[in-house]
Amino acid sequence: MAIWNLGSINADFVYSVPHIPAPGETLASTDRKVFLGGKGANMSVAAARAAARVNHIGAVGHDGRWAVDRLLEYGVDTTHIEQIDVETAQAIIAVDAQGENSIILHQGANVAIPQHTLEQALTRAKTGDTFVFQNETNLQQEGAKLAREMGLTVAYAAAPFDAAAVQTVLPHLDFLILNEVEADQLKSASGQGPADLPVKDVIVTLGSDGATWFGPDGKAHIPAHKVTPVDTTGAGDTFTGYVLACLDRGQPMLQALQTASKAAALMVMRHGTADVIPDLKDVQDFSG
Ligand code: ATP
Repeated sequence: MAIWNLGSINADFVYSVPHIPAPGETLASTDRKVFLGGKGANMSVAAARAAARVNHIGAVGHDGRWAVDRLLEYGVDTTHIEQIDVETAQAIIAVDAQGENSIILHQGANVAIPQHTLEQALTRAKTGDTFVFQNETNLQQEGAKLAREMGLTVAYAAAPFDAAAVQTVLPHLDFLILNEVEADQLKSASGQGPADLPVKDVIVTLGSDGATWFGPDGKAHIPAHKVTPVDTTGAGDTFTGYVLACLDRGQPMLQALQTASKAAALMVMRHGTADVIPDLKDVQDFSG
């Protein structure tokens, strides 16, 4: 089986600054680092680290070859990442001495993925494969509809949250993953709680309180591991990538969620995102 991830690819430029610049202020940074980012790239790396066959579907500009190479290095199939005449998405992240941040996101190529790239990729997919997407690209509805028609399992990580985007793709979903805040926002917008949604499996992640699975036979709680977090960025993406990879390998949902909970706990003990997502061996060795 394989995972097909219609997902964002960002260059994350992280600037260390004494404080977040005020309007009109010019401020020198004390450090600058460039990382591979974007929820899509993070999920592809997480699922590949969890030993799934992952095909990323997306786009970068002519400045994005390094990001594609990085994904390849992490074991992601990049055949369906198109290089286009739109610049690679960028996140300009200022982080102050207290760890507070402010972010400017330029979506660039992430929202200009050509339709033929999606269609060509899915012609290679097989019934029973998984199609996953997030809310950082174009073609979400087209991808979900096509994948559903082809008999793929369709999974959506509803972030960054947009109630209208969720409502649009809801009829095509088998699997929906939201954090607690997103689940509350969806309930306010639609009146539907996680158990009321017309989706086979809904997972609500609860940070250090773990996650709840609303499945066809009721709900189950998966506790988080007790760890001391240093950076929770990317915990959700790691969790989702791991769950889908474990399900793709035929594990039952509860076991997949337990493995994902271990992977996410390891992740919150590390600084960084895609580049530090733990591999399956680290996760299996973690006794947490
Ligand atoms: P992010 O946007 O920061 O990537 P998220 O809001 O999508 O995360 P969370 O609910 O914060 O997702 O976390 C996802 C999973 O990561 C949780 O279900 C849990 O298993 C794990 N996790 C998050 N925070 C902690 C923590 N402090 N300690 C242990 N595990 C954690």
